Amino acid sequence: MSIIVQKYGGSSVQDAESIKRVARRIVDTKRAGHQVVVVVSAMGDTTDDLLDLAADISSAPPLREMDILLSSGERMSMALLAMAIHELGETAQSFTGSQAGMITDALHGRARIIEVSPQRVQEAVDAGYVGIVAGFQGMSRESKDITTMGRGGSDTTAVALAAALDAEVCEIYTDVDGVFTADPRVVKSARKIDEISSEDMLEMAAAGTKVLHLRSVEYARRFGVKLHVRSSFSDKEGTWVIPDETDTVTIKEGEPLEQPIISGLAHESSEGKLTIRGVPDAPGKAAAVFNPIAEAGINIDMIVQDISAETKKTNISFTLPGADGDKAQRILTEHQDEIGFESLDFVPQVGKVSLIGGGMRNHPGVSARFFSALSEAGINIELISTSEIRVSVITDVEVMDKAVQAIHTAFGLDSDEEAKVYAGTGR
Ligand code: ASP
Ligand code: MG
Repeated sequence: MSIIVQKYGGSSVQDAESIKRVARRIVDTKRAGHQVVVVVSAMGDTTDDLLDLAADISSAPPLREMDILLSSGERMSMALLAMAIHELGETAQSFTGSQAGMITDALHGRARIIEVSPQRVQEAVDAGYVGIVAGFQGMSRESKDITTMGRGGSDTTAVALAAALDAEVCEIYTDVDGVFTADPRVVKSARKIDEISSEDMLEMAAAGTKVLHLRSVEYARRFGVKLHVRSSFSDKEGTWVIPDETDTVTIKEGEPLEQPIISGLAHESSEGKLTIRGVPDAPGKAAAVFNPIAEAGINIDMIVQDISAETKKTNISFTLPGADGDKAQRILTEHQDEIGFESLDFVPQVGKVSLIGGGMRNHPGVSARFFSALSEAGINIELISTSEIRVSVITDVEVMDKAVQAIHTAFGLDSDEEAKVYAGTGR
């Protein structure tokens, strides 16, 4: 029988009525012939209320006690949900994070998952129960203490369980119909996305889309878990977040499940850098620069605008194919009056070095190590751009190879064996 993991957020279980409604949905899923494992958040604003309560008592509560306090919110909802399911004539058993085998590191309030061993949950569903697991919490094997995984962490609990139980799908129930083309609370005309790749979802979550917790998307991408984000208030089909097989990883025995994964480095030197100096710091100037560039079909990559300070003037730099440099300068010069810049400065060839991997945003240590490596090698950085799966810098083309080597070594990517290049220049 196939296992479905369902996660219900705080707003879906905010009061007794909501809990009964959710129980009905769970029972329906079970009666449709599935094994069901449910992950719940704390009811409504319970976590915030607990935080306020603690703040009224202590300005610096011990983190260990804080985690015990916060983990209790999810325990309330899981027990009540189990009761509601019994009321509908099915059986359910609830489990705390530690009972469900969520083993984390010992960092209170921001624990990361090291291992998931959900035997008890598996046994419960095999025996015909609905398994209910408290979200966002686990236990450290090291300290033997209860840990929590950070605000919004229940999504990650659900995905981690779905991966460990080899679930068919992980359904994330929330208070909107799915993932939208923009926040529907801001853009009324936002459209629900039917299907999105894990990678795009990762970028959206990293850039601020809140429906899914960033870590859960990373985890799902890494372990190939299919997500279905949907409303617990309607029966509408939501948004499917589909992982790409090539992104999934195999974790070696004993290695933690949540850690940044560095895939490799890439570099190129086919781009140049154009700097427009002395642009008035006023609305419309970037459009005045980039519209004619786009009309000419020139692809730009990284863009940086620096701060204007007292002068009310700013510099805009961007990278573009080196071969397009002359054309871009000609076009901008034609529009000089309109843009109002002072001068142009073009470097026909710069080096671009990128580190590619996963979980970069969640591990600030990654960019710290990246920049330290460049600093130790004495390499100056001209532009920086980052995403959830990439950190890129522009350097002088002369030092690009040195930069690649320095970063490679800093991330422990160096192999003992020398890589064979059979032919070609790698261009
Ligand atoms: N209850 C926790 C919070 O509000 C965890 C969660 O909802 O995912 O942050
Ligand atoms: Mg919550």
